[in-house]
Amino acid sequence: MQSTTDITTVWSQVLDIVRDELNTPSFKTWFEHTAPVEITDEGVFVIGVQNDFARAWLEDRYSQRLSAALKQVTGVDLRISIVVDRDVVTPEEQPVELGSGAFDVSVPPVALKEPRDTPRTDLNPKYTFDLFVVGESNSFARNASLAVAEQPGLKYNPLFLWGGPGLGKTHLLQAIAHYVTENFPHKKVVFVTSEQFTDDFVNSLRAKKIDSFKQKYRTADVLLIDDIQFLESKEGIQEQFFNTFNELQRRGKAIVLASDRPPKDIDMEERYQSRFAMGLSADIQPPNFETRLAILRQFAESQHIPVQEDVLTYVAEIASPNIREMEGAMIRVGAFMELSNRPVADLPMVRDVVKDIFPERSTRPISVATIQREVERLFGVNHSDLIGSKRSQAIVYPRQVAMYLSRDLTDLSLPKIGVEFGGRDHTTVMHAQAKIQKLMSEQREVYNQIQQLTNTIKQKS
Ligand code: ADP
Ligand code: MG
Repeated sequence: MQSTTDITTVWSQVLDIVRDELNTPSFKTWFEHTAPVEITDEGVFVIGVQNDFARAWLEDRYSQRLSAALKQVTGVDLRISIVVDRDVVTPEEQPVELGSGAFDVSVPPVALKEPRDTPRTDLNPKYTFDLFVVGESNSFARNASLAVAEQPGLKYNPLFLWGGPGLGKTHLLQAIAHYVTENFPHKKVVFVTSEQFTDDFVNSLRAKKIDSFKQKYRTADVLLIDDIQFLESKEGIQEQFFNTFNELQRRGKAIVLASDRPPKDIDMEERYQSRFAMGLSADIQPPNFETRLAILRQFAESQHIPVQEDVLTYVAEIASPNIREMEGAMIRVGAFMELSNRPVADLPMVRDVVKDIFPERSTRPISVATIQREVERLFGVNHSDLIGSKRSQAIVYPRQVAMYLSRDLTDLSLPKIGVEFGGRDHTTVMHAQAKIQKLMSEQREVYNQIQQLTNTIKQKS
């Protein structure tokens, strides 16, 4: 029964039965714009309809009737799944076949292309796993997202992604959507921001179509909601959200949420907060220099902006952690080149073009003194010890952290940094740098600690 012809025939017979049972207007309204999509290996008969509303309506009112008719035709129990498939064309749009008689029941009522061969318009085509640059700051969140995409509902449910603006949360949510859509074409993937979720709810209330709201969300196999923090202080919608959440969770469907802060900092009732934390929360940290550089390089290539390597290094160095801003700077460089007919971006020009995008950092370099002060404050060591000769672990570790940060956040050479730390040799600084780098890649706490310090230092300088 897997060939298209077969399911088309089955479906036209099912429709014949249903047509007999219904009055003509109802039949025309709800069944004319439907088409069989496939019978899955799990024995699900998938029916395509043109829009969400039709899907909700059919599911609500006609699914039993359809199941019964399907059993009558095929002789077996098949489950029914109704999906929105914009390729379903109406009978009017279908070319009339010459020679097909008026009583020829084998002519299918509708024609259908392969399922899902049109891209989804609600997703950015660039937000895929392939185009997501992986670095220390985001690999945890990225790997968790990929695991969910590979086994929706089975892994980390819910997955809660959080991090500051422009760090890639939306990109990862949509990467999951792309992946599932491509690899499990008949799983229903719903991606919305929490504002869209709220609007949908309010509109469905207004139009008295709360059922279609429920159908849209509660029949999802994968529900992705972005910027969940905007549900704060909207109690009515929170309740709707949690009903949906519970229903999906109960049925083992995948839920992925993104927010600009961790679950515990979202201002909602405790019982709601605890749901968020039930699965896995994964944070995305600001990218380090290497990752910023890799993202920029990929971005410049994808936008066909020819740049010299030193330009990329420069922008990656002065950029804020917000990747959206960094990409904005590159877009401006590209526009400037186009307008001034320059074949390639060179450093003096780029400095000039981006200087007002990242003003603080390009004009106010970070000093070793600031770094030392913040490290001393965090670890509770005094300055003379930090730059002195004591070798106890309580001093050595903060000292190495401060050296690492001096290397990461200033333009100073190794010997110059050595001088700032009580006249140490440049190999000592090098060793400290390597040591902290290694610890950061092995221990998440170290990584987070360094990131936090970096942020504080940047704010203080
Ligand atoms: P958020 O939702 O966290 O505010 P976005 O997901 O919208 O951030 O990301 C902002 C921009 O940065 C997008 O254009 C996105 O493609 C890009 N971006 C973020 N992280 C990465 C990454 N790791 N690799 C490539 N591009 C990235
Ligand atoms: Mg976002």
